[in-house]
Amino acid sequence: MLQQRTLKTLTRAVGVGLHSGQRVELTLRPAPPDTGIVFRRVDLPEPVDIPVSAEAVTDTRMASTIGSGHAKVHTVEHLMSACAGLGLDNLYVDITAEEVPILDGSAASFVFLLQSAGIVLQNAPRRFIRILRPVEVRAGEGAQAKWARLDPYHGFKLSFEIDFDHPAVDATGQRVEFDLGSGRYSRDIARARTFGFTRDVEMMRAHGLALGGGLDNAIVMDDYKVLNSEGLRYDDEFVKHKILDAMGDLYLLGKPLLAAYSAFRSGHALNNQLLRALLAERSAWEPASFEDEREAPRGFAQPAPAW
Ligand SMILES: [Zn+2]
Repeated sequence: MLQQRTLKTLTRAVGVGLHSGQRVELTLRPAPPDTGIVFRRVDLPEPVDIPVSAEAVTDTRMASTIGSGHAKVHTVEHLMSACAGLGLDNLYVDITAEEVPILDGSAASFVFLLQSAGIVLQNAPRRFIRILRPVEVRAGEGAQAKWARLDPYHGFKLSFEIDFDHPAVDATGQRVEFDLGSGRYSRDIARARTFGFTRDVEMMRAHGLALGGGLDNAIVMDDYKVLNSEGLRYDDEFVKHKILDAMGDLYLLGKPLLAAYSAFRSGHALNNQLLRALLAERSAWEPASFEDEREAPRGFAQPAPAW
């Protein structure tokens, strides 16, 4: 049987929120089979649980926000991406503020935390959502057009294309494909950092955003070049970060997908619309699990390799 996974022991991190600039403590704890990933606001007078689901996503401007009643957690996508990359099914995420810490701006710090705590198998089958028919969402017209789609695939792979008219981005790959079964998430995707432009920063700060952002947790560009003195971590770090984000956004479904995801200029909003379109189209998917590990997609039975 291809089994569910959780952490072996708890682990903690302290950092600041990218947008709020607030100090926040994060505690990641093991959870029983079929719990899923549950964020818990432990700073509120009565702790509030927010189980991840497509419907729990309440805001997708700049980051993916989930909520339950008045309780919210912003910027969940990088931690969710690390969980997707390592195949973690069940986890409690205790958090002391309304935004996940940005740490180094990628998923690498979360991968390191989760792997340091250790990942254990649980006595329950991993429950997948298998795509049976294509599902697609589109937005915008002409130069503003963007789309995202899911197609049937025995495994999970992503193909993303960006279209940034900027010298520093033009010089790098604008398209990348990644197959989770390759076992290369930690090495090839997790280290890609979020990015932003100095011309947007003032406007964002005026709106109370990016208050915790800087050169130690984002790639920052002026109109011509990358300002970080150490340069890029991958030649195509920009589009790889979009793959990282998409993996996190799609993992908010609450179950891993068996699908091929492809997207052009997609973002948090369209990724969430894609999940909602999928759930609304009941004949486009079915639940799946693997009693015999040998029938699982290549690479899925192995725990994610270390660095
Ligand atoms: Zn991101």
